[in-house]
Amino acid sequence: MPELAASPLRQGAEAGVDEAGAIDTFLGTVGRFAQVALLTDEEVRELFGADSAAALAAFDRYSRESGLCSSCGGVCCSEIGCEVYSPRFQECPIHATRPLLCRFHFCHRFDVVDKQLVIALRDIFLACYTADQISRGTIAKSMSVPPLETACPALVANVQPVMDAVREGSLDPQNGIELIRKEVERYRRRHLVAST
Ligand code: SF4
Ligand code: SF4
Repeated sequence: MPELAASPLRQGAEAGVDEAGAIDTFLGTVGRFAQVALLTDEEVRELFGADSAAALAAFDRYSRESGLCSSCGGVCCSEIGCEVYSPRFQECPIHATRPLLCRFHFCHRFDVVDKQLVIALRDIFLACYTADQISRGTIAKSMSVPPLETACPALVANVQPVMDAVREGSLDPQNGIELIRKEVERYRRRHLVAST
């Protein structure tokens, strides 16, 4: 594991996150979003603010540089029953638009990096998810993925044959990833972020 002092995470950790500010930003912004199941980094920044986005990005960089998730092979993805997980992929096939749960809920292996920041990010997610105006609506539904089925059933139906072919070995994993990303793009086009 690389020295933390040499990691970009050190900056994020020192900056910390303003939990109340991130929750306020989310509650003030989420109404513009038609879906929050599959979001880009930029959309996550809009939703939670710059310091939360920077902390998430720093953890992501740390994982990539240290090989933390790639060496594990996606135990959490498999255990949660994510429909786009396959051990044949080297990484999450929808990493650029992965769900909020995949971004905010770091497993215990991240605790050694910066446990306080891990807990702060988890708390932000949970507070937003359980906020009164969110907890019973479609936004909460699309925050509680993966599995993707409940929020994106059509996407899952379209991706299923691709995943079957990848698992059976009849489709090259890279081609599978491209097909999955096209389905995600189609899903996102159908649920565009509303303009301000
Ligand atoms: S978050 Fe944890 S369990 Fe999931 S892939 Fe990364 S190291 Fe593995
Ligand atoms: S969407 Fe989330 S659970 Fe599914 S493979 Fe990607 S990181 Fe893992």
